Amino acid sequence: MNEIRELEKIARLLEPDAVSRQQLLHHVTEYARRYLETVAHSPAYVTRSDNGRSLLDSPIAEEGIAIDKVLALLEENVDALGVNLTSGRYLGYIPAGGLFHAALGDYLAAITNRYAGLFFCSPGAVRIENMVLRWMASEIGYPSASAGNLTSGGSLANLTAIVAARDAFGIHGEAARKAVVYVTEQTHHCVDKALHVAGLDHCLKRRVRIDANYRMDAEALEQAIVADRKAGLKPWLAVASAGATNTGAVDALSSIGHIASTHGLWFHVDGAYGGLFVLCPEGKAVLQGIHQSDSVVLDPHKSLFLPYGTGTVLVRDQQKLYSAFNAEADYMENILDEVDELSPADLSLELTKHFRGLRVWLPLKLLGVAPFRAALAERMKLARYFYEQIKSTPGFEVGPYPDLSIVVYRYLPKRAKRDDADEFNHRLMQAIQKDGRIFISSTRVDGKLVLRAAILSYRTHLDEVAEALDIIRRKARQLEQE
Ligand SMILES: *Cc1c(COP(=O)(O)O)cnc(C)c1O
Repeated sequence: MNEIRELEKIARLLEPDAVSRQQLLHHVTEYARRYLETVAHSPAYVTRSDNGRSLLDSPIAEEGIAIDKVLALLEENVDALGVNLTSGRYLGYIPAGGLFHAALGDYLAAITNRYAGLFFCSPGAVRIENMVLRWMASEIGYPSASAGNLTSGGSLANLTAIVAARDAFGIHGEAARKAVVYVTEQTHHCVDKALHVAGLDHCLKRRVRIDANYRMDAEALEQAIVADRKAGLKPWLAVASAGATNTGAVDALSSIGHIASTHGLWFHVDGAYGGLFVLCPEGKAVLQGIHQSDSVVLDPHKSLFLPYGTGTVLVRDQQKLYSAFNAEADYMENILDEVDELSPADLSLELTKHFRGLRVWLPLKLLGVAPFRAALAERMKLARYFYEQIKSTPGFEVGPYPDLSIVVYRYLPKRAKRDDADEFNHRLMQAIQKDGRIFISSTRVDGKLVLRAAILSYRTHLDEVAEALDIIRRKARQLEQE
């Protein structure tokens, strides 16, 4: 008994009393306050030769240290360093958010730690998760018999959809050798990973030709399907991008959907970056036909500005998702009628999971949907503004008119030979990154190095875009004169 009491004394440190809780919270909220007050002016990119190495000088030890010391370590070695994706002047890869209201949801989800995997354990948590999924499904235009899952991100969501598509078509063993998947060179690499993890390396992959706007050529898709079927193969899966990561291009979803349904393929839309633009009328017009898909991926941690770890997969026919992931397939027939809500554990790889729904639901409840619709429409218009501005700046050439909120462009140096444009643009990007006030990235299209501006942070407004344009123009002029 004494031993137990001694252990209890130490173990009780795990449960702080009211005074310590208040103190800890105070420090953390102060830290957050300072962070949020400075984020508008802090650089979008900071490099430091130590790369935060002094974190390692404070190893995990038997005894804890004070909260102010811990927060100092975090500030100095984590938050002051690297790419700042919470900056409104971050226009790199795919910008992100981290809504304050969502952080409050995370705080509550961690404190109450509801078991959101199973309806029986927390009917309320599962209702919240399914409610936000149904909300997204209705915005996409899916029928009420669809189902989905809040995943950790787009990669896992794509994997989930591909497994459902695999099982729905019985693409296993030898059958996989004849199954054909249709993608383009703009398809996100996580689709390849998903096929690999799903045991489908043997499938045939057709990279369908793209048009001048980097969109899948629907006619070429249909020709390939017909030719493959004639050759005795089994056209199985058409993957369209609703906002390709590289160029932002949205494939012709309506035409692809029509072709997929005519020829009996599973139609999957990867809308991790762009799918949620259906929330604004301008986006909805571009994404026409997204509702025809059999499965769709959306990333609320991209285009709903939520913290990382929030992806979504929706499958038109809930039975297909359920059959692929529920553990006891035998009693499946009637379970769909008997339960109020399907459990995430029966629709995904996960059993015990983070109650992600709370960080989606809380901001939507507190703010309503209107600010999200406005922010997405604003992002599209900012991208168009950026495009027009760059296009009319002497020396710059632009790619296609942006479908959503990504612009590709490059500078054509006057003095250099045309072949040197790649090198010049690479140096231009480096000079801008070194400056650090804004962050842009580059990519390759048609074998050429191009600069890329992705406008998706909810903190990016006209002022930030104007500053970015100013920096890009100045740096190009400086380099040209060197
Ligand atoms: C970001 C992205 C992914 C991968 O999603 P993660 O959330 O990073 O796992 C997949 N497809 C597209 C089009 C994306 O933009």
